This record gives sequence, structure tokens and C-alpha cells, in this order.
Amino acid sequence: MNILVTGGAGFIGSNLCDRLVSDGETVTVVDNLSTGFLENIQHLLGHSNFHYINDTILNEERMEGLIRDTDCIIHLAAAVGVKYVLENPLTSIETNIKGTEVILRFANRYHKRVLIASTSEVYGKHMHAPLKEDDNLIYGPPSTMRWSYAAAKLVDEFTALAYHRTKKLEVVIFRCFNTIGPRQTGLYGMVVPRFIKQALRDEPITVYGDGTQTRTFTYVGDVVEALVRLMGCDEAIGEVVNIGGRDEISILELAEKIKEISRSSSEITLVPYSNVYGRDFEDMMRRVPSLDKLESLIGYSPNTPLDETLRKTIEYFRSRAD
Ligand code: UDP
Repeated sequence: MNILVTGGAGFIGSNLCDRLVSDGETVTVVDNLSTGFLENIQHLLGHSNFHYINDTILNEERMEGLIRDTDCIIHLAAAVGVKYVLENPLTSIETNIKGTEVILRFANRYHKRVLIASTSEVYGKHMHAPLKEDDNLIYGPPSTMRWSYAAAKLVDEFTALAYHRTKKLEVVIFRCFNTIGPRQTGLYGMVVPRFIKQALRDEPITVYGDGTQTRTFTYVGDVVEALVRLMGCDEAIGEVVNIGGRDEISILELAEKIKEISRSSSEITLVPYSNVYGRDFEDMMRRVPSLDKLESLIGYSPNTPLDETLRKTIEYFRSRAD
């Protein structure tokens, strides 16, 4: 099968490409390296089943040709990361809304199945757990720019579902919760690579707020497995589905765990949000997915224990530091 992966040079995208190529699929990546890295796919470049195109998904002529010639699209290209979105609000909104609109329009024109990446951010500031796909969504005001990411991704979800309902386009929308593993960068704010780098350098580990906010973390290999299964799952068409981990952990406990596993002598310091993200910032205090729908659709849900994922990720960063 020919599969087009937008954002294939990114963290999740490049891990997905490794799997698809080793499964014998022919993979084309389109990525403008705005947040991805060529280094992530360098090892695939000479492979006869792998093609890389450096371009933006906003190039409509290019995207039309690529989508016409593929069997299926996995749309991961997006502006990601709280830090990146806050520093680049306009570009983020444009990429995340217009980019997805281009993909859906041509997928519809050429009748191609398309998986659209969404995010757990769309749930907003819930305190209950677990979050189910049909829960209400709770956002703050538009002056708090963080919510623009959730709102843009929500527009993507609405657009994809509207194409499905009115044109019978085969769309699957997946909401990724915090995903971690090799190749993730801390440059856009993501907590685990930042903590690991700080720990390996014995620098202070910077916990924002009081550290009681919680998340679940998913090993990228488990996300890839879920995506491969979703791609072939007819029952998932027209559905929104969570992909995430199970073990809820506070950010302070996460810092302690990373410090312990990496045998670091770093101090753990609490940093006020305002020092990092300015005045109008709201964090999400809790974010735990319901995985019932994912399991019932594909008979699988992420299962790699957090300690094991952290060990693998720490090894990856250690080998790069060497
Ligand atoms: N965080 C932190 N220190 C950092 C980076 C992030 O304490 O250096 C916190 C952040 O405030 C949030 C959690 O870690 O509560 C997860 O942040 P991330 O940006 O990775 O993902 P998201 O907020 O989208 O879940």
C-alpha cells in the first residue's frame, strides 16, 4: 500500500515511518521541517520504499498530486507543543486549520481514507477522569492563547466529521495524549525530554507550578501500533478516538522518577508559570484518557509501563549526549 505521512519527520511521524517501511509499505513523507528534523528520517532516505518531500502542506498543487497518488493519508503535520504555540500563535492557527482543510479537500476529491491527528488539548480544563470522546469541552477565554491550539484542532475535528457525514469521506480522528519516547524534542516545551536533559546534565529539574498537575504518558511505539491498527479498522471510520496511557502521575513525581532512573544529582525546583509562559497562562491540572473506545475498536491499548518508557528514552538521550 502507498501511505502518505504528513509531518513524517517529526517525533511520532518518524517512528510511524520506521514501522510502516519495515511492514513493507511504500511511504511518502511531506514535511517542511518546521518542527520536525531530517535527522529523524535520515536512515530511511536511501530505502526504495521511502520518499521524502520537503514542502509545506499548504502547497495545494503539491498536496493534490501526492494525495491523488496515495492509498491512505496519515495527517500528523501540525504546529505542536505549548511553548511553540504560545510563541507562534498565528502560524500555528494557520497550519492547524488551513493545512487540515487542504488535506481533507483533496482526500475527498480522490476518495482516500485519512487519519487526522487531534490532541487531548481539545478536552480543555476538565478535572474528572477518565476523559471520554463524547465529553463536553471546557475552554478559557481567547485572550489565553493556549486555547487557540485546542480550538484549531477542534475545527479540524468538525471539518473531518462534516466531510464524513456529507460526502462519506473515510476519516478517523485520533486524540493523542502525552506521547513520549526517542526522538521527542524538548524545544517546543514537552516535559519529558526537558526533564531528562536537565537530569543528565545534573542541572535543576524545572517543575512548573506546584507540580500537582497530572498527566498519563504513552510510549510512542504503542501509539504507532494503535495507528497501524486504526488505519485498517473500518469500524473506526467517522469516529473520534483517544490514544493515551493509563498510569496517572503528577509532574513532581515524574521529576523524581526521572531523577532516580537516570541517577542524577539534579535538584528539583518549582518555577511559577508566569516566569515561563507570561501572565495569561492556564495549565491543565489533570488529563487521563478513557481507552474503552480504542480497545473496543482495535482490541489493543497502550501497555508499556512508564518506567520502561522512561528508561528507553533516557538511554536514547544518553547515547546522543555521548
Ligand atoms: N512542565 C514542567 N516543566 C517543563 C515543561 C513542562 O513542569 O519544563 C509541565 C507543564 O506545565 C505541564 C506538564 O509538564 O503541566 C506537561 O507539559 P507538556 O508541555 O509536556 O504537555 P501538555 O501541557 O500539553 O500536557
